[in-house]
Amino acid sequence: IDENHEQNRSSLKNIIFSEVIPRPLERNIRLVGASEDALTNILDMDPDITNREEFLEFIIGRKLPYGALPVAHRYGGHQYGLWVGQLGDGRAHILGEYVNRKGERWQIQLKGSGQTPYARTHDGRSVLRSSIRELVASEACYHLGIPTTRAAALVVSDDFVLRDMYYTGCPRRERAAILLRLSPSWFRFGSMEILAKTGEISVLRQFAEFTIKEYFPDIHGTDENRFIRLFSEVAHRSLDLVAKWQGMGFAHGLLNTDNMSLLGLTLDYGPFGFVDSYDGGFVPNCCDGEGRYALAKQPDVTETFLMKIGLKEERWGDEQLVEKLLDMMQQTGADFTSTFRQLSELEPSEMVSETKLEEKWALKRLSMHSSWGCWLDQYRERLDKEAVDASSLGMFEDERRRRMLSVNPVYVPRNWLIHEAILDAEMNNFDKVRYLLEVMRRPYEVQAEAERRGFSAQPPQWAYALKISCSS
Ligand code: AMP
Ligand code: MG
Ligand code: MG
Repeated sequence: IDENHEQNRSSLKNIIFSEVIPRPLERNIRLVGASEDALTNILDMDPDITNREEFLEFIIGRKLPYGALPVAHRYGGHQYGLWVGQLGDGRAHILGEYVNRKGERWQIQLKGSGQTPYARTHDGRSVLRSSIRELVASEACYHLGIPTTRAAALVVSDDFVLRDMYYTGCPRRERAAILLRLSPSWFRFGSMEILAKTGEISVLRQFAEFTIKEYFPDIHGTDENRFIRLFSEVAHRSLDLVAKWQGMGFAHGLLNTDNMSLLGLTLDYGPFGFVDSYDGGFVPNCCDGEGRYALAKQPDVTETFLMKIGLKEERWGDEQLVEKLLDMMQQTGADFTSTFRQLSELEPSEMVSETKLEEKWALKRLSMHSSWGCWLDQYRERLDKEAVDASSLGMFEDERRRRMLSVNPVYVPRNWLIHEAILDAEMNNFDKVRYLLEVMRRPYEVQAEAERRGFSAQPPQWAYALKISCSS
């Protein structure tokens, strides 16, 4: 740990953390929203704590918890394929580790809490819109079953910062916010990369030993292949993560090594997106003009999709069955989330091309494809093969539908929903943010109010034109 944060910022070497205290937000602090689940199940707090002045003082970085030692983590990264050296963390403070009632260890972090030695020329702040996106998405991902860092609470102030959202050369004023984030570890690929690139080999070795000891208990500290095992474990976890993302139609818009967790968690939500109309070329980030991080470029994951269509084990021809479905979805622009959900709801007797699909808007769209009937026949036949081993067809069908409904959510935080919540939040109305958090606690359950508000209906036309900026 480096204790002198006045040093020349880019030339710091042989350190992992710098001690640096947060700079509190000042004017008109308001609570935007909180995750009841994270507060109670991770931090052992009563959800009412959000009404207390002290709690806000803690999140804005003014009152540190007893025993806290705020540090900023030094890491580098590749961005859009280029090594860009030391990147950060320029605006986050890890306050320490909390061991909760269950014995789990969670690192508590403030994001947007002021400049650190790694801020380069930036202001150390985060704006409200991107902080809302991270709050909602990290909690949604958790409840959807995607490994992720967590977000416990978000506050906004009337302190202003300048951001150029669409790179017009004309920055506008936005309000600064601080997000209280939680993770077992905030280490990224870039945490190691920076040490390797600048030849800090002995620190790199210490770092790797530490990481193995703390986070990979299955790897023995005396194993001579422990570093290779670590590499392999990180690679596998990352692959599993991407497979889970793909199954939800999620694309991380900045899949840079500074945003890739060593623990295989979704990290640093910025210009991410859950795809609406399926498109393998979906790019959520408007800064990514080349489509480097397009949805279908994040590798091929047939397994995930077998589960989504209710198949337990792969048989010959299954890959084509999945590919054909995705092709039809791509060609008809069928909605990703609702297609799979509505497919889960189909009775076998309905799996014929004549079925009226008036209520099932996504399948209705898909059924306009000339191969729909043929695909349904193949799908039904394939399910029949699986049913052969079951004692009763009725039971098999119930069980298949139950399985499909448990992996195909009704709700994901669609961009348009978050966008509407952000517009209101800019006017200090946080109801939609809070409601979105509430709905996303049970994404696999149909909720009457959410249905009334159109959360699983076809998104409005304007939603398809939304682009998310990487400025945050
Ligand atoms: P991102 O592209 O959001 O992943 O950010 C890349 C790096 O830049 C991270 O390490 C951030 O900590 C840092 N960074 C981004 N915005 C700011 C800011 N406003 N102030 C300081 N550091 C920042
Ligand atoms: Mg980045
Ligand atoms: Mg980042």
